[in-house]
Amino acid sequence: MIKPVCNLCGKELNEFGAILFGPPDNKNNVKKYHICVDCYKDIERRMKK
Ligand SMILES: [Zn+2]
Repeated sequence: MIKPVCNLCGKELNEFGAILFGPPDNKNNVKKYHICVDCYKDIERRMKK
């Protein structure tokens, strides 16, 4: 099995990180991004709670 790579920092995901789904395009295709735990924490900090 290929290890997923974080789409933000390019690191291999050794532990299970987050998955971000993009908005669907006009063909209803949805992009899926893997995000490592470190990058997720970064994103979480930017979330308005
Ligand atoms: Zn990352």
